Amino acid sequence: MRHSFSKGGIHPPQNKTASRTIHLQPLPMTACVPLTQHIGSPAIPVVERGATVSRGMMIARDASFVSASVHAPISGTVSAIDNVIMPNGKPAQAIVIKASEEQHAADTIARERYWAQIIPGDTDRELSEKLSSEEIRRYISQAGIVGLGGATFPSHVKLSLKPEQKPEILILNGCECEPYLMCDDALMSTYPARIVEGVELMMKAGGIPKAVIAMEDNKPEAAEAIRRAIDPGQNISLTVLRTKYPQGGEKQLIEAVTGRRLASGALPISVGAVVHNVATAFAVWQAVATGLPLIERVITITGDIPAEQRRNYMAAIGTPFSEFQFTLPAEARAIVGGPMMGRTAVNLDAPVTKGTSGLTLLAGKSRRPVQACIRCGACVDACPMGLEPYLLSAYGRLRLFDEARQADVADCLECGACSWSCPSSRPLLDYIRIAKQRSRK
Ligand code: SF4
Ligand code: SF4
Repeated sequence: MRHSFSKGGIHPPQNKTASRTIHLQPLPMTACVPLTQHIGSPAIPVVERGATVSRGMMIARDASFVSASVHAPISGTVSAIDNVIMPNGKPAQAIVIKASEEQHAADTIARERYWAQIIPGDTDRELSEKLSSEEIRRYISQAGIVGLGGATFPSHVKLSLKPEQKPEILILNGCECEPYLMCDDALMSTYPARIVEGVELMMKAGGIPKAVIAMEDNKPEAAEAIRRAIDPGQNISLTVLRTKYPQGGEKQLIEAVTGRRLASGALPISVGAVVHNVATAFAVWQAVATGLPLIERVITITGDIPAEQRRNYMAAIGTPFSEFQFTLPAEARAIVGGPMMGRTAVNLDAPVTKGTSGLTLLAGKSRRPVQACIRCGACVDACPMGLEPYLLSAYGRLRLFDEARQADVADCLECGACSWSCPSSRPLLDYIRIAKQRSRK
């Protein structure tokens, strides 16, 4: 029997039907690049309105150690540094770049050449040996790389480990346990050798002696590709886990891979583990080996749309969602991310950001009416953190935030397994989120 985490978990329908091919989404003529695409201080603009920028140039610098710089995804002129409306309808400061026809054409040619030479290019197994840990961390920081699994924590910070912290294992999260999404699957299937090189660089950067690339058993092509890309001499292995949601949660993944359990509030390094996403490893390889900062990423466009429109795209940061090819289903509900942990989007002119894994477009289905709690305990059984979701939700609804804190609401992953399991269709997670936010000290 394959491993998984021990507590709770659910098996929602996978719906992973997008094509695994990565299509190059055309560069936008106008790119809106938010200054906050990461956890930590917003980046500080280093360009002014009217400035001419080239693709890949830094346009905002990291404001502190826990921050990330931002680069121009297209060449053009800075037309504004102002609030733009994000998918959730809220404003965020962004640098807006407009390209001329000539700039757009030149960028397009250079980008197509770049991607054409990535697949057949020779693998440089010695890359990590030529550079010091500090040099690799500097590359990662200067490239503005953040956790691409959705957490968006600056990656150089996570790899700035002290020897006394005793890092033992780097776990690469390739689980992609969210239904519908396939961007990591596509990346692992297409660029397995580059991901493995990125893993070596990260091991060196963090002084971590071994690594495990972990994925679920619903990705046999990706598993085979990664298996073939790993050299027997490398301290890197592949672990295939039993598919169960939310396996990609940091605590769940560490337990599934190592058998070690994280205490409430503890960091992964307390059990010797460091966790990064496989797409982050790819971005690290790109930054170090090709000098390309984080200006594009793979995203999945999927959901209740025609089969030929369910695709994975290499998309420039700042591309409006409305520029992708899809036919909106009737009474569509658009979700940035997957249906379990993603957030409803009300503005599809908002841009793709570093943390965007996909856009899931679901046809409006009449929701079942919310009914009274029947105390069945299904939400408790589903919770991977061993919490009592019905109780936390009641605390949120009744504004009993001290009680919520005492009941460990801070441990909630916001995975939505409780809401998904509830036969009374109670919006458990909505109220738990309120309790979590309001009970923070
Ligand atoms: S959303 Fe929170 S409370 Fe609900 S199952 Fe996930 S971790 Fe448990
Ligand atoms: S799953 Fe729903 S009905 Fe069952 S105990 Fe939890 S909140 Fe109540």
